[in-house]
Amino acid sequence: MKYYSTNRQAPAVNFKEATINGQAPDKGLYFPEFIPVEEKDYFRQMDRLAMEEVCFRAIRPYTGDTIPQDELFRIVSETVNFPIPLIKVHDGVYTLELYHGNTMAFKDIGARFMSRCLGYFVKGMNKQVTVLVATSGDTGGAVADGFYGIDGVRVVILYPKGKVSRVQEKQLTTYGGNIQAIAVEGNFDDCQRMVKLAFADDDLTGRLFLTSANSINVARWLPQQFFYYVAWMQWADKDHPPVISVPSGNFGNICAGLLARQSGLPISHYIAACNANKVVPQYLSSGQYKPQQAIATLSNAMDVGDPSNFVRIQEIFSHDIGKIKQALTAFSYSDQQTIGAIQFLHSRFRYLADPHGAVGYLALTEYLAKHPGAKGIFMETAHPVKFYDAVEPLIGMEIDLPEQIRSVMEKEEQKIQMPADYASLKDWLLGMN
Ligand SMILES: *Cc1c(COP(=O)(O)O)cnc(C)c1O
Repeated sequence: MKYYSTNRQAPAVNFKEATINGQAPDKGLYFPEFIPVEEKDYFRQMDRLAMEEVCFRAIRPYTGDTIPQDELFRIVSETVNFPIPLIKVHDGVYTLELYHGNTMAFKDIGARFMSRCLGYFVKGMNKQVTVLVATSGDTGGAVADGFYGIDGVRVVILYPKGKVSRVQEKQLTTYGGNIQAIAVEGNFDDCQRMVKLAFADDDLTGRLFLTSANSINVARWLPQQFFYYVAWMQWADKDHPPVISVPSGNFGNICAGLLARQSGLPISHYIAACNANKVVPQYLSSGQYKPQQAIATLSNAMDVGDPSNFVRIQEIFSHDIGKIKQALTAFSYSDQQTIGAIQFLHSRFRYLADPHGAVGYLALTEYLAKHPGAKGIFMETAHPVKFYDAVEPLIGMEIDLPEQIRSVMEKEEQKIQMPADYASLKDWLLGMN
């Protein structure tokens, strides 16, 4: 399998090169040259197989010959090491809980898969790689956890000091070992600017083997297809495939779902559930794609004004908006509506949703109201405890701390403080060698 750049000004590469490069040199995103298609019968019989087996078979065409089959199977098994249950909320409405991994957000899947692929590639190169990431919260925790203990890979995470939640800061700073957390005296944009300057600094990249672990990396994007296969395995009514509503920000997760559908996975329709950041809903209704400044909301992991993976959705459908609309609908909701949904789900059905999942629920029920007889799934992308300060007052009770969070809250923080300037970061990175 080769990957071309969506800007078409860079050479096609294999999975290994795409993983190491992250973004293509022409600033495009890597996209697979073809989408593999499975036989219809396979999807009928899929629930007889083990989850690892199904996920392995889904990803295998994408890694091609860059990872031996037994090694890939091991990587997939280590990636899907937690349950992904489908739960009935009420008639016709189900939720797939993607948050039972170590950091309790769905990004664990992509981070675990990517870290292990990179670890495998680095072993063959006899070099040490430095993974440099900026995080506003969730991504950094998943990356820290995913890469912890991977030989040959050192991870440096920049986060805005005082601007991530208590739980998130613990998740970033308590690993130690090959994970180093830097509290930057600035905001998320400062962190991102420092990371971008590092990648653009030829002197630095000549001395350190630097790579990123951001969400456009194919090794983080592609394994998110697993969720949709796992949803289908648990879907009882195989004669009536579900619609799936996906809380969306950068559109990586839903784009992986659309890719799986192109491979033949029976999902009848996708719904992009957005908060007040509604570039994509507006695009689908007006035909105009107009990037915006991100608006801060309660579902903050979806506060994205120019979703980077949208170009991949266009690529899947050959940039034909008519085809996109046959597969995808998008809705946008305010924080007030999100709060209403959290309260309604809890008081009426005793289901505790986080703000992202609540947006997913709103979008699913709006779609179902317009399509009588349809049934569907909304994805729950984070555990509500990650947003306890917002959620607890709404439901008037405390949320029990799950084991993953309790253990991390007890650990000691190890972090470096740094002013928000690139020279400090560079000195530190080089001194570290
Ligand atoms: C990252 C994230 C999203 C958005 O996912 P995209 O792939 O960027 O669309 C939704 N919910 C949570 C909890 C997230 O962390």
